[in-house]
Amino acid sequence: MRIGIDLGGTKIEAIALAGDGSIRARRRVPAPRGDYAATVTALRDLAQAVASEAGATGPIGVGIPGTISPATGLIKNANSVWLIGHPLDRDLAAATGRPVRLANDANCFALSEASDGAGAGHGVVFGVILGTGCGSGIVVDGRVLTGPNAIAGEWGHNPLPWPQPDELPGPQCYCGKRGCQETFLAGTGLERDFLEQTGRDLKAAAIATAAEAGDAQAEAALQRYEHRLARGLAAILNVVDPDIVVLGGGLSNLDRLYRNVPKLWGAFVFSDTVSTPLVKNRHGDSSGVRGAAWLWPPA
Ligand SMILES: [Zn+2]
Repeated sequence: MRIGIDLGGTKIEAIALAGDGSIRARRRVPAPRGDYAATVTALRDLAQAVASEAGATGPIGVGIPGTISPATGLIKNANSVWLIGHPLDRDLAAATGRPVRLANDANCFALSEASDGAGAGHGVVFGVILGTGCGSGIVVDGRVLTGPNAIAGEWGHNPLPWPQPDELPGPQCYCGKRGCQETFLAGTGLERDFLEQTGRDLKAAAIATAAEAGDAQAEAALQRYEHRLARGLAAILNVVDPDIVVLGGGLSNLDRLYRNVPKLWGAFVFSDTVSTPLVKNRHGDSSGVRGAAWLWPPA
């Protein structure tokens, strides 16, 4: 048994994952926002609750909205800012008496889909989350790439490639730069673009519904989005050439992406042919928490 925990900004979810990939227990609680000590306590209680319900315990993996700095062993790059600067893995291990591994939540998504999801059986899996943010993870032969700076896969804060004149200098990003891919490819990026171009304030799902109903402005916004996503992914294909690309997050539910983006990315990939599959995730909202459990080998 392995315990997986997905530590989000608003909720914490935990599962007990059996060796056969089945979930034996699942619990979800609101995240104690702004309080580090309460977060550690909530994680401990949740881990103990799912272990008790499953009737077995095991090592704990936690997906976090940030990463552990290799230089300090402390959390950095977290939008849940009360985690920053703390050794969460050591504190949770001390609180639970169990071994603990932490990983970035996008890396957990990619690991889940590579292990027993849509990317299973593929050697190099590029997993992308298109949600409130735009993160990604790279898994090679079942192992997440992290790198000496623990930033492998931080694709969202590269500039949007092959920018068009009206995309420059691009929207301000919270990271301090302008024109990051995240400002275009996150769900909020689609919504901002639609608002700027049309004066209509709609959520991403409503824009997609409107496009399906024949709304020309919504259709144009989704076509701009698809062209931007194709350019962003083409840059990855040119560097990593993954065996498969798996999409997650809210916008991965747009089925048209899987039809349209592969028709567009060939113009930017440095190859005469592009056979890379672009597919939807298999485990949906559960991928993050499953991937956290997959930080430990099946047992
Ligand atoms: Zn940025």
